[in-house]
Amino acid sequence: SNSKHDKEKGVNVQVLLRCRPLNEEEVRSNIPVVISCNELRREVLATLSIANKQIDRTFVFDKVFGPSSQQKDLFYHAVVPLVNEVLEGYNCTIFAYGQTGTGKTYTMEGGGTKMKNGELPSDAGVIPRAVRQIFDILEAQSAEYSMKVTFLELYNEEITDLLAPEESKFSDDKSKKPIALMEDGKGGVFVRGLEEEIVSSAGEIYKILDKGSSKRRTAETLLNKQSSRSHSIFSITIHIKECTPEGEEMIKCGKLNLVDLAGSENISRSGAREGRAREAGEINKSLLTLGRVINTLVEHSGHIPYRDSKLTRLLRDSLGGRTKTCIIATISPSIQCMEETLSTLDYAHRAK
Ligand code: ADP
Ligand code: MG
Repeated sequence: SNSKHDKEKGVNVQVLLRCRPLNEEEVRSNIPVVISCNELRREVLATLSIANKQIDRTFVFDKVFGPSSQQKDLFYHAVVPLVNEVLEGYNCTIFAYGQTGTGKTYTMEGGGTKMKNGELPSDAGVIPRAVRQIFDILEAQSAEYSMKVTFLELYNEEITDLLAPEESKFSDDKSKKPIALMEDGKGGVFVRGLEEEIVSSAGEIYKILDKGSSKRRTAETLLNKQSSRSHSIFSITIHIKECTPEGEEMIKCGKLNLVDLAGSENISRSGAREGRAREAGEINKSLLTLGRVINTLVEHSGHIPYRDSKLTRLLRDSLGGRTKTCIIATISPSIQCMEETLSTLDYAHRAK
């Protein structure tokens, strides 16, 4: 029926909003706050002052996490259901979308993976917590499984493998060489030459994660804040062996993609500054195409433009169909970010 169809419509894409707290510096300088979050009503209120007139705009999301929300709360509400889907053999993707400095990396990676009394630190983000949950469940089920992870960066529509082995100092830096995205002839894609690490414990994944993200940070300082203009995709693929009631063996395969997107300010500031026109254009291409793909999926409105950017080509098997997607839009509460905040609220709101 129609209403059943409508109900199913929104289910596969969730859009959450997270507002970070003011930082110490902002508190010290008494920066006015222009955002208020109502978690119960799932609303964000933005207050603008235009020519001495106060205008309020309200945005509604599937969930809202205010400035005092904790990493574990966001994980519990946003990520746990998706991890369960992955272990049932489906593909899921979590995106962090927002202006640079609003908490995308804090939300996805957080403040480290050093275990204390058998627990992750309270500021550990989505990725380490998801990894922990996956192993907890597999161990509780005594499941027979195999698992591999990949970690790549997409910059200027070029892919860099964050897990590529270090080259010797004396050879050319081959580890930075872009690698190719290939069609597999069956409508899918694969990344030629991408390192796939086989893993069998959470600790191993944490090491890989540290290695990859420190590589990303190094590139950031070397290449003038590259990371704010690059997307990173951390993927975990799990094969689980199961027996049907008839005693037949079955393999379930699920994949979890965790995506830290380029700063969304790149969408609005696409002017040809410092000869960066092409770069801005390419970043726009991926972010704008992602927006269009998600819009089309949510509205069931026909042709899905996966092919228009590398980001959406890469994630094609995990967007649409029997998959689940969660977008975590991040904002700052400060008046200084108001313009970017409104454009993030609009982008994320449209994705619904
Ligand atoms: P982005 O990846 O979007 O550029 P970051 O994750 O690097 O932003 O966050 C910028 C700064 O703000 C970091 O110092 C981070 O620790 C801090 N921060 C972001 N979100 C939060 C939050 N929800 N709670 C506390 N600190 C946060
Ligand atoms: Mg970041």
